[in-house]
Amino acid sequence: MPTDSIPATLIPGDGIGPEIVAATLEALDALGVSFEWDVQSAGASGVRAAGDPLPPATLSSIRRTRLALKGPLETPSGGGYRSSNVRLREEFKLYANLRPSRTLVPGGRYEDIDLVVVRENNEGLYMGYEHFIPIDDDPHAVAMSTGVNTRQGSRRLLEFAFEYAIAKGRKKITVVHKANILKALTGIFLETAQDLYQRKYRDRIAMDDVIVDACAMKLVLDPWQFDVLVTTNLFGDILSDEIAGLVGGLGMAPGANIGLDAAIFEAVHGSAPDIAGKGVANPVALMLAAAMMLDHCKRPVEASRLRDAISKTLNVDGVRTGDLRGRASTAEFTRAVVSRIRSA
Ligand code: NAD
Repeated sequence: MPTDSIPATLIPGDGIGPEIVAATLEALDALGVSFEWDVQSAGASGVRAAGDPLPPATLSSIRRTRLALKGPLETPSGGGYRSSNVRLREEFKLYANLRPSRTLVPGGRYEDIDLVVVRENNEGLYMGYEHFIPIDDDPHAVAMSTGVNTRQGSRRLLEFAFEYAIAKGRKKITVVHKANILKALTGIFLETAQDLYQRKYRDRIAMDDVIVDACAMKLVLDPWQFDVLVTTNLFGDILSDEIAGLVGGLGMAPGANIGLDAAIFEAVHGSAPDIAGKGVANPVALMLAAAMMLDHCKRPVEASRLRDAISKTLNVDGVRTGDLRGRASTAEFTRAVVSRIRSA
């Protein structure tokens, strides 16, 4: 084993997960970065392999490596097991979900998009404090859900967002909330942001705030008015998919879950069951997540080489998968990225 090899957990995941993970590993191999992968399962493949959507072996692997690259994990809608993604974020206190979106392919509906969503990842409505109240013969007559946002959790995430934005030379942070209606649940997030800004950041970066529904509309009309958006769990999940749509779709949007005990890198998209096994998935989102992982591991040169190879493959070679109106299969696109990395 080379001395600079980086121990990391690898979760191929469900649906298109194994296809895009294999593609990403080929690109990482071509870069010559040596990861010592510990392959583990989760989600529906965890149930199949170990009878558990989050097997103890997967948890102990991440506890050891504190670093993971993860394919998407299937979660049944309605009933069934609780999301393994949410459980991983809780287990390793991955409180910050960083989701950058940049235009990589010019000529789409929007040019020059460069936005980052920093999403609170452990609190809000995703805590899943939910239950039904039966009435007469209807066991689901009433559905109840309790969201929880704490001062400490909001402050921790907001500090991460401010420090990230300043370190990256960003100009403005926009706090997205619904404090006009959910006055306590999202009011605490806005109030904490305003207090933190006045005490610590007002001389270092601009800050404003916007109500989430107006934000969704403004993103479509004029996305360039935003820079870094910081928000609570549910709003961040929805807005980051919307923003992925501005840069060509979910195949282009990476994400990092950063926390006290570990960091897990993944695509924003899910397991795409409609195209799984067809060899047509776009691996760019996961490759860009791997570039974020390289930055996290203090390998910025390799991270830039990977981003550069992806951009040249898309734009100079014109090799694109079907979601970008190209004809390349996942394997063809991956071969083109690998040859760009090797020829750089
Ligand atoms: P999805 O993101 O899997 O798919 C939405 C649409 O985008 C589909 O048409 C799909 O084909 C397309 N798409 C997604 N990724 C693509 C790619 N790389 N290349 C080309 N096209 C791509 O969302 P969904 O269908 O709502 O969810 C499917 C499953 O994924 C669900 O079980 C959901 O819970 C899970 N999910 C997991 C994660 C995660 O692991 N982080 C995130 C979101 C959804």
